[in-house]
Amino acid sequence: MAQPSILMLYTGGTIGMINDPKTGQLISFDFKHMHDHVPEINRLNVALTTISFEHPIDSSEMDPKTWKKMADIIAENYENYDGFVILHGSDTMAFTASALSFMLQGLRKPVILTGSQLPIGTIRTDGKENLITAIEIAADKDEQGFAIVQEVAVYFEYSLYRGNRCSKISANQFEAFASPNYAELAKAGVNIAYNYNQLFRTNLPDFKYYSQLNTNVGLLKIYPGFPAAGFASLFDTDTIKALVIETFGAGNAPSDQAFRNYIQDYLQQGGIILNVTQCSSGAVQQGKYQTSSFFNEVGVVSGKDLTTEAAITKLMHLVGQNISIDEVIEKLNHSLCGEMG
Ligand code: ASP
Repeated sequence: MAQPSILMLYTGGTIGMINDPKTGQLISFDFKHMHDHVPEINRLNVALTTISFEHPIDSSEMDPKTWKKMADIIAENYENYDGFVILHGSDTMAFTASALSFMLQGLRKPVILTGSQLPIGTIRTDGKENLITAIEIAADKDEQGFAIVQEVAVYFEYSLYRGNRCSKISANQFEAFASPNYAELAKAGVNIAYNYNQLFRTNLPDFKYYSQLNTNVGLLKIYPGFPAAGFASLFDTDTIKALVIETFGAGNAPSDQAFRNYIQDYLQQGGIILNVTQCSSGAVQQGKYQTSSFFNEVGVVSGKDLTTEAAITKLMHLVGQNISIDEVIEKLNHSLCGEMG
């Protein structure tokens, strides 16, 4: 079999950072030096092409325009490579992975995001293992020559997660990600053990690139005693076309009349509300408790077991398409690329 061809895109993040000798702060370094730090890359049995953002960024600077820049690169090169690796800061990696999963549908090739908690130049770095295994996964094929992973995934500290199912859960542990509502796609040990039943397979005939995102999406995390009026600007369809509310437990919220009025008015104006849980695992079940049946009555959509990252980016994707509110709601009720159960 020919060597698999992999396109690796460096966007920034700790993995490619060094200490600024003057300030001691972490700053991005020239990607060309990546090979100096990980000479093992040259020994992998892959044809690796690397490209870098001209100005690598800390992933806190990530935004939908930059997601589009990444997605453009993958869409333009989709036919030319067997797999793709994106080096990315871990802070917002779950948002990027979720956004890319909705933008790049019908994938039959892997798009693997990875990064690290310690810069690649440091002795105890987790970056080397993450980088090397991510490339191996992007290159892995089955006996028929088809890619094993055919979706957007995050590889971090020996685990491969579905991109739109994981969240960053630790600011300092090497095990920085978790996917509480969906089992890992693979676990790397001596070999990479794929969890074949968990791998996503598209039913779309071809790869389809959705480049448009609408960023007028809001997020309201409720808490006991929150002043609904303080969040009035979120319930304005001129600026917020769709709103994610993070509720308690199985999708519950206080029966505060002011809050209910805001919700009702907003939905009547043509806004869309998607209900996700603040809990890190489990799902919204609207109507299970009396404190959530109001949502069903007025037309709030249950986000079931969506992560907040997937909820926000799914809305950006759907509102960005030229489709009716009813179609958006219909698509919110179904999984597009394995993002919910
Ligand atoms: N602040 C960094 C970033 O997300 C952290 C990391 O790379 O893990 O870009």
